[in-house]
Amino acid sequence: MEHSVEQALEVVPLCLGQILVRKTGRSFVLCHRDDEACDDLEMFGKAGDAIEIARYDDAGNYRPLKTAPNLQHGWRMTLRTSDDLKQALDHFYPGRLEVLVAWHHGQLRTTPLRETLDRQSGMYRVAAKISDAQIDDLVADFCRSNGGCLRTILWKRDRPGAIASTKLPTQKFDPAWDQVQALGRTGSATLATVPLLCQEACNLLVAACRKVVKTE
Ligand code: SF4
Repeated sequence: MEHSVEQALEVVPLCLGQILVRKTGRSFVLCHRDDEACDDLEMFGKAGDAIEIARYDDAGNYRPLKTAPNLQHGWRMTLRTSDDLKQALDHFYPGRLEVLVAWHHGQLRTTPLRETLDRQSGMYRVAAKISDAQIDDLVADFCRSNGGCLRTILWKRDRPGAIASTKLPTQKFDPAWDQVQALGRTGSATLATVPLLCQEACNLLVAACRKVVKTE
């Protein structure tokens, strides 16, 4: 069981979301999982380059949700130190390594969606009026791994512990499941897959809840 980000990354080669991390000599080499066999990739060498790569999808559209399954292709990044690797992965998937470590320690607090909605203020306060049935439909569409988000959902709908959506497959709630498989990509039997965990609803889902209520 991992105790730190460093130990979580010791299992290289590994997959984190749509990223493949390998080691060549003492360097870490990152690329899109689909590009493993490509040799005409644009080369990068700084952890900060991940910010730009993660900003847009293949079509040049801005990616508001960094864990959406639309990471752009066509790049390879070589990094010299584990600190650089941590930084780059944090740019690609902000906060996910720290959340993973907290989860491994049993210290990750998850927040029910109703609690997240109830603490909203201003124009988002109305989002709390969304019905349970509407949440069931919305989360199934908004958070689905094939087109929505690659995180594994750990939060519940409400304090009594209702599931976030009955319309998502059980694998969506299983940290051992490689969510990228939902894209029709075969998971790797040989590589470790590090989950992207979702401990509470993101701002985008809150905004989508508001939209459902306002549309009604
Ligand atoms: S609530 Fe979590 S799983 Fe759903 S879209 Fe936001 S980050 Fe992804």
